[in-house]
Amino acid sequence: MTSLLDVSGLRLGYGRTMAVKGIDLSVPAGAVVCLIGANGAGKTTTMRGLSGLLRTAAGTIRFDGVDITNTPAHRIARLGIRQVPEGRQVFAEMTVEENLRLGGLQAPDARTFGSRRAQVLEHFPRLQERLSQQAGLLSGGEQQMLALGRALMGAPRLLLLDEPSMGLAPLFVEEIFQIIAELKGHGTTILLVEQNAQAALEIADYAYVLESGHITLHGPGPEVADDPQVIAAYLGGH
Ligand code: ATP
Repeated sequence: MTSLLDVSGLRLGYGRTMAVKGIDLSVPAGAVVCLIGANGAGKTTTMRGLSGLLRTAAGTIRFDGVDITNTPAHRIARLGIRQVPEGRQVFAEMTVEENLRLGGLQAPDARTFGSRRAQVLEHFPRLQERLSQQAGLLSGGEQQMLALGRALMGAPRLLLLDEPSMGLAPLFVEEIFQIIAELKGHGTTILLVEQNAQAALEIADYAYVLESGHITLHGPGPEVADDPQVIAAYLGGH
């Protein structure tokens, strides 16, 4: 199968300490692939490597057949890989509208920008109601939606979502997963890092389990969800 993203032998670390110790993973075009694992397993480090925020120590990252290993983050964003970082990180002092505008800066023309904005606001009617509000005053769930909306303004070819449900009230968690399902329905390619393994495995076409920097298990979402070790470690033993 041809993949949009192909990672092979990837090693990433901080100084001499390796957090990701030689992983292989693929994300086919149009698929939702999830990466689950405990705190400190190396999930965020992997995402930072893919978006160019962290230099790789070894291995290769190929995007649409092109080697992008150690390409600077701004060039990776321009290629169409957009990350929604853990903790959201919207521009708190700016309005919702201004945050969305920033996400769409690279739109080729005003018409494309306008249609992307309309699409994003269709996904997130709550943002439509709050366009002129300061982003920092939104609730956590609304900020997560804005962070997602801002990434979508860049019409990403690959969306990297790092713990989108973290710290959110249950109702927002449900809403975020619904939006991910909608995006999947539209054919958006997504690599999803989640601690909410249950919800992630339900939505994922394919899943990888990361433990202490190694991929210990991978397979189609439902198969990984049925694995006894995954059930014991990540799905509450049910
Ligand atoms: P979490 O769910 O807690 O975010 P994670 O799976 O995303 O966990 P990482 O944040 O990638 O894990 O961390 C992997 C390892 O790298 C951990 O041992 C962590 O302590 C270490 N680490 C992460 N960030 C840094 C940093 N900036 N400097 C040094 N070590 C770091």
